[in-house]
Amino acid sequence: MIRQVTFVLAMFVFGCLASPTYAQAPMIQTQVPGYYRLQLGQFEITALHDGPTAMDAQLLSNIDAAEIKRLAARMFAAYPAMQGTVNAYLVNTGTHLVLVDAGATKAFNPNLGNLLENMQAAGYTPAQVDTILLTHLHPDHIGALTDADGKAVFVNAQVFTAKRESDYWLGKDNAQAAPANRQPMFKAAEAVATPYLSSGQWQTFSKETALVPGIKPVAAYGHTPGHTAYEIESEGQTLFIWGDVVHVHAVQFANPGAAIAFDVDQTMAVETRRNIMHKVATDKVLVAGMHLPFPGIGHVRMDEPEQYSWVPVEFQPYAQNK
Ligand SMILES: [Zn+2]
Repeated sequence: MIRQVTFVLAMFVFGCLASPTYAQAPMIQTQVPGYYRLQLGQFEITALHDGPTAMDAQLLSNIDAAEIKRLAARMFAAYPAMQGTVNAYLVNTGTHLVLVDAGATKAFNPNLGNLLENMQAAGYTPAQVDTILLTHLHPDHIGALTDADGKAVFVNAQVFTAKRESDYWLGKDNAQAAPANRQPMFKAAEAVATPYLSSGQWQTFSKETALVPGIKPVAAYGHTPGHTAYEIESEGQTLFIWGDVVHVHAVQFANPGAAIAFDVDQTMAVETRRNIMHKVATDKVLVAGMHLPFPGIGHVRMDEPEQYSWVPVEFQPYAQNK
């Protein structure tokens, strides 16, 4: 009897010891590469993440502080350092490889400056890009154009910007007349433009005519004097890359009247935002924005007159986007 009890007990203990154990896997602690791809007619669109940034609530004006706080809470957004993002977009038309904007440098913000790494992860090299379209010449849109030595990174690309944008930021008189806190922006624009100007790769435009087949500029002045959106169209499908129409999504969709300190002309920037939001919401156009939560592609829904919501795309395998 004692022998039997001992045997059962031994089996019980053995059973406990032999029960399956679970391996402790290490934490990976890295994010997936920062790109997202979708098809637009015959075109391939790749959103590229340059990095995250924070926008302080104090940068917003034409809206009271309590309202900013209320809108941030409504969107579960951090406050007062509100979530921001820097994106750029690669468009492969089949005949042209077009980069719309070029992020920031790590010197500008160490969290940014990841565009080239993400472009490589997405399967492309800077040498393959033949066209660069700039929405405007702020430092968070031109950073990857030159390397740390000031040399051109996109050696085979023609770089396009609106003539009035180029004239404003590269104009010596404007730089001298600008307040001290804007001086670095003029310097950054000049530093980036210089190698492309000297190689004849810096191009300007004054009309809304196609720059490559299927892509045309659309004036969206206000944020900067020549701020430009780009309309991408293939087989009847349209993507409207609107640049900096929105900086703080948690606030400016619900209240398009809120302006940001970086606007060169706040009144015009607000008017442009109102007009563009109304149009893309009414026409149900797919939109991409440089400071919208990555990948920054989606639709704008009108909730009430002058009040909108951002409806981002849902993740999909590439082949099912069509
Ligand atoms: Zn910007």
